[in-house]
Amino acid sequence: MKVVRTPEQVREAVGAARAEGLSIGLVPTMGAFHRGHLELMAAAGRACDTVVVSLFVNPTQFGAGEDLDGYPRAFERDRALAEEAGADVLYAPEPGTVYPPGFCTWVEVHGLTDVLCGDPAHRGAEHFRGVTTVVTKLLNTVAPDRAFFGQKDAQQALVLRRMVRDLDIPTAVDLLPTVREPDGLAMSSRNAYLSDADRDQALALSRGLRAAEQRAHNGETDTAQLVRAAETELAPLEVEYLEARDAEDLSPASTLNGRPVLLAVAARVGPARLIDNVIIPPNGGVQ
Ligand code: AMP
Repeated sequence: MKVVRTPEQVREAVGAARAEGLSIGLVPTMGAFHRGHLELMAAAGRACDTVVVSLFVNPTQFGAGEDLDGYPRAFERDRALAEEAGADVLYAPEPGTVYPPGFCTWVEVHGLTDVLCGDPAHRGAEHFRGVTTVVTKLLNTVAPDRAFFGQKDAQQALVLRRMVRDLDIPTAVDLLPTVREPDGLAMSSRNAYLSDADRDQALALSRGLRAAEQRAHNGETDTAQLVRAAETELAPLEVEYLEARDAEDLSPASTLNGRPVLLAVAARVGPARLIDNVIIPPNGGVQ
């Protein structure tokens, strides 16, 4: 596995593969790898001949007072894990390379970025502006056939899908299911912030979502009732939002009315801000 630091080096590293007509898969990450990241890399390896993993803690997607400085960084461990997972190229640029002096160009997706995490009361649309800008740069640099993202960040995935479509970016977007710990906790680099007691509390997120799923499975179609079922579990946490929205366009969803519904939650647990979600199928998953 090659480790490269600049766009020119990435292009050179994938150039030979492209010249041979081999397919290229990209897995964008911020590092501190866990099984969620490794599953994306494995999926990229199954679907593509050459796998590029980017590792960049993107400063522009962190708001003032967020955890940019404390975000877990473990380069040597990540390098070994990416290599083991079959990555061919690890692209780990410096912030000054991605954002050189005078940088003033941004990519914005409107609408989808105003709600949930994009609500000004939460992370705000600037968070997604940072994500869409850096992912556009990565897609331009690597020019992959496919890019791989996790359902764990459901809103991010919708925003990126829309961006790729709207800007005619010739990359297919693949979404992989959320990878969880055996007890249900969604894997996240930010789980490293949790004490044992916090971690126990954090289980309320997945328990709440599962309770809502179960209610839907039992025939409940009113999303307010599904939210209520989740709220019961989430009560001990400081919940930022818990909302049922159309899983395609993020418009509010009051019923399971023939379209899949995204039930998404963000909550503070100890020093961490955690997110999780489930997609509830139109019939609540009743067979
Ligand atoms: P991050 O490094 O947190 O920015 O995540 C990089 C990619 O991994 C994103 O596409 C995330 O959605 C994905 N990801 C993070 N956690 C998980 C998880 N538990 N399961 C599946 N994908 C994940």
